[in-house]
Amino acid sequence: MAPSGFDISTIGTETEEYSVTELYTLPDLPYDPGALEPHISARITELHHDKHHAAYVKGANAALEQLGESRAKSDFTTISMLETNLAFNVSGHVLHSVFWTNLSPNGGGEPSGDLADLLDTTFGGFPAFREQMTEAASTIQGSGWALASWEPVAGRLVVQQVHDHQGNHGQGTTPLLAIDAWEHAYYLQYENRKTEFFDAIWNVVNWDDVAARLAACRAPTGP
Ligand code: FE
Repeated sequence: MAPSGFDISTIGTETEEYSVTELYTLPDLPYDPGALEPHISARITELHHDKHHAAYVKGANAALEQLGESRAKSDFTTISMLETNLAFNVSGHVLHSVFWTNLSPNGGGEPSGDLADLLDTTFGGFPAFREQMTEAASTIQGSGWALASWEPVAGRLVVQQVHDHQGNHGQGTTPLLAIDAWEHAYYLQYENRKTEFFDAIWNVVNWDDVAARLAACRAPTGP
């Protein structure tokens, strides 16, 4: 997701007012909020996108702006808090942006082609991959995500159990499939039966999107 709306000329000096204009913006949902029913209720998707994801976008922009203000004043008293806020909110924005496009009312089933082949060679097949992802999502202590990510150094897929949005996350990995395991993703509908949610979500996984993300990671980047 290319940065947009960032005007570097607005970065001020000590004598100029600092402002950053909406470097991060909330993407539209690629479907109606009710499109993922009965697996994810319309109200959950509505609140999840319009309130929760929107808050991470707002928080990411705010953290950048406040870091800019710190630079302008040469006052880094609060830098630890601001860097934590930046990591949390940018990661929340990135993962939710992946999450929405990973889902589709026409999703479900099993992957095919290169993605299916890679799941076979890496995990021993789709059922084993699905079991590992579901277990990673189900066993998070607190809030987090299960991710299937591309790890570029070894050039392989890995399953990651991310804490909050950014903890326990391997550097350099790119999420291809993100399953939100925060309570806000399911509690209105599934209450404490979160394993039912983690079983249901496979009915709306958009494998075309996951495969396209994999192909982009594997594509030559050129000189
Ligand atoms: Fe979420």
